[in-house]
Amino acid sequence: MKKVYVTRAIPESATVMLEEKGYQVTVSNKDDVLTKEELIAALKGRGYDAVLCLLTDKIDGDVFDAAPEAKIFANFAVGYNNIDTVAAKARGITVTNTPEVLTNTVAEHTFALMIAIACRLVEADKFMRAGKFKNWEPMMLLGADLTGKTLGILGAGRIGARVAHHGARGFGMQVIYYDVARNETLEKEYGATFRATPEEVLKEADFISIHVPLLPSTTHLIDAAKLSLMKPTAYLVNTSRGPVIDEAALAGALKDKKIAGAALDVFEHEPAMHPTLRELDNVIVTPHIASATLATRKKMAELAAKNIIEFLEGNEPPNKLKL
Ligand code: NAD
Repeated sequence: MKKVYVTRAIPESATVMLEEKGYQVTVSNKDDVLTKEELIAALKGRGYDAVLCLLTDKIDGDVFDAAPEAKIFANFAVGYNNIDTVAAKARGITVTNTPEVLTNTVAEHTFALMIAIACRLVEADKFMRAGKFKNWEPMMLLGADLTGKTLGILGAGRIGARVAHHGARGFGMQVIYYDVARNETLEKEYGATFRATPEEVLKEADFISIHVPLLPSTTHLIDAAKLSLMKPTAYLVNTSRGPVIDEAALAGALKDKKIAGAALDVFEHEPAMHPTLRELDNVIVTPHIASATLATRKKMAELAAKNIIEFLEGNEPPNKLKL
């Protein structure tokens, strides 16, 4: 009987899929992220054939070596910066992710953040609850419009393209983008225009939304120098990965009102955030929930399970990464 280890409780439909194949499924019963030591202890000597892991699990050579029979690690996320792909490749391990099924949900959360920071929704909500609303006022809590503004996309892949769609079609925004590869569909469909450097996007855009994967080349893609290029009226939205932004530099820029605001779903040192951000009204923060709708988390779990099933049945998993 094939044995599958799941590093944390996930939507039940996915574990049922694995059990229906006759696999023995063990789900970690710790209601938190396993430490590396705990994960190694859970895997060692148990003969698991597959591991379904999360973006919070740091999967490196030591973890792979603790489960030598497990030749597939299926990540419950589209990003896979938590997995040492060099160590996986060296061991002939298949790694899969969960693209597409979360694209719409993440794009919607991105717009929720963009609208919320521009309309000062969180500030306004706090104001209301504090009983500060005395009368309608012409100059109270003034925000910014999205309609007709320039939307700058950094990383125009699946999610970046969906955000461009919403911006262009929903809000009549002019879309400009930077990516290491041109996205001609984006240009044809939404009239998006390519910029050869992230600096050009940062200088021109009113709203900048980041959708690159976390790689050595994208770590601190946004640093103090890049932030200084943004218009003082511009907003920065990040639903990609925290370390893409130098968070201390961003906190400084927001504190000094060098930019209008930021909305963040991801943080450089998750689950912590830079302490200055906590004090500021011109930033909105959500706890890495951009893909967190019930329907999408179910689809992600089921896709991770499908990748394991195809692999264990001797087929090519649909989302096998090219390592
Ligand atoms: P994707 O691979 O379709 O798109 C990524 C794009 O970034 C590609 O077009 C790629 O060419 C581009 N890129 C790569 N390196 C670059 C660089 N140095 N500079 C500019 N562009 C570069 O991925 P996707 O499905 O759109 O997901 C994007 C990222 O979003 C994921 O890698 C993940 O980290 C993040 N994400 C976050 C959440 C969340 O919950 N907050 C959810 C899903 C995805």
